[in-house]
Amino acid sequence: MAWAEGWGRATRPTPGRGHPATAKRRSVFRRSAPHRRHGTLALAGVTLAGLLAAAQPAMADPAEAADPINAAFADAADAYQVPRDLLVAVGYGETRLNDHDGAPSHARGYGVMHLVDNPTHRTLDAAAEATGLDAAELRSDTTANIEGGAAVLRAYADELGLTAEERADLDAWYPVVALYGGAEQDATARLYADTVYDLLGDGLSAVVDGGETVAVDPVTVNPERGDYASADVGVLSEDYPPALWAPAHSANYSAGRTQDIDTVVIHVTQGSYAGSISWFQNPASQVSAHYTIRSSDGEVTQSVRDRDTAWHARGGNAYSIGIEHEGWVDEPSWFTDAMYRSSAALTRHLAAEHGIPLDRQHIVGHVEVPGNDHTDPGPHWDWDYYMELVGGDPGEPGPPALDFPTYQTLRDGSTGPQVTALQYLLNQNGQNAGTVDGQFGPATGAAVRGFQTAKGLTADGVVGPRTWTALLSAGSTPTLSQGSSGEAVSRLQRALTAALGETLAIDGQFGPNTAAAVREYQSSRGLGADSIVGPQTWAALQAGR
Ligand SMILES: [Zn+2]
Repeated sequence: MAWAEGWGRATRPTPGRGHPATAKRRSVFRRSAPHRRHGTLALAGVTLAGLLAAAQPAMADPAEAADPINAAFADAADAYQVPRDLLVAVGYGETRLNDHDGAPSHARGYGVMHLVDNPTHRTLDAAAEATGLDAAELRSDTTANIEGGAAVLRAYADELGLTAEERADLDAWYPVVALYGGAEQDATARLYADTVYDLLGDGLSAVVDGGETVAVDPVTVNPERGDYASADVGVLSEDYPPALWAPAHSANYSAGRTQDIDTVVIHVTQGSYAGSISWFQNPASQVSAHYTIRSSDGEVTQSVRDRDTAWHARGGNAYSIGIEHEGWVDEPSWFTDAMYRSSAALTRHLAAEHGIPLDRQHIVGHVEVPGNDHTDPGPHWDWDYYMELVGGDPGEPGPPALDFPTYQTLRDGSTGPQVTALQYLLNQNGQNAGTVDGQFGPATGAAVRGFQTAKGLTADGVVGPRTWTALLSAGSTPTLSQGSSGEAVSRLQRALTAALGETLAIDGQFGPNTAAAVREYQSSRGLGADSIVGPQTWAALQAGR
């Protein structure tokens, strides 16, 4: 942490001084020093003040207006003397050049260049200091973000002592790229940098916001890995030998299990492959997953042993294995065939190893795990294809989680498992809420209004206690009293939770607590308070009273 925090201070421009804080740089860069390509830490002749002058934003050029992102890469590469293709490949490896409208990654990185602002990696601050641009602009403006990425790469290059000649050589930038990823461990840094050099070798092409295409032609690369060449990236997983092993920090998971494993949870990383593995190795993250799969080729890295409890799905952690897939829920280009196939092979292995049924009740998305507020893997994840590859039952996922300690007010724009439950219940009740995806959009709104109208409730499209009560109680109306049990009791308990705004255990057993809740409901609604749920009490619940 000290290293990362010191970084920003060391690169602050020092007006009137040619070589800012040389001694300080030497010490704060102790960690990276072994990776220098030369025996001495030769500070580059270019001062940061000079860099600042060179990096003034380019004047508006009418010829650039048609291709603003390409122009931004060209200008930033030129200003900071970073190879343009390298700059593009770093951004592409991080985000596929999608800025996600300024939303941060899991590791709190922003924009197409993924400028990071987390407790141990602070390239956003470093970019602000090197460019003079403010952090908000660097986060949200793509041109500024690209300039910031170039400035950070250049500052690392200077710290590592790259000469002007070396800066013109793609292969010499390898240790710089390795630092940019922010990995705590050299093996993970190497995973990150190798990905960038693979992209350079293969070439890349991305259609970016606004419709222009940003491309890099394939080039022959022979990256000079320096000390990273000996980093152990070949250590294999013991649980799943095709996978690499890069252990998460012990602060980010629990040793052992409190329940048997019977579920695989499918996630999407909201960040890059190496960035995610690195984040699990960072004690500040407090998250982990068992496995992470790379988009480009399906490479698998294990971070937590199957026998240990990774922190990926809150209440679902105890009984599940979490698989992260490199990508972003809003960007379908990450979901490659290589990744699907690799993931399916892993899931087949896990199912055989742990006796997990190959169906959608046991192979679930993060969004389907009770008590979570994430939406991954999102609408671009192809469940039918995945289940076909897994060789399992491609059928419907079955009822989603319906049991919650409180039922939140939901409206257009709401997301998460309670929306999933809502959509499922609306479909069960003859409304068409569309795909059950945990996203409250127009189709869900129309279905809510349709249901409200049918029940004589105010058709405002907002799901509050009354609409929840009607939805949760819908169905058969057997007479229930103390000692009853089964699905109808669970339905009653959910409906009472919503109607009374009190948390009631939802266990399908009509005991004293349920009886007390029924009595409270009956007396507050002017019904005979006998704790017996007969036709009148059911009618009141199903009308949303
Ligand atoms: Zn997730």
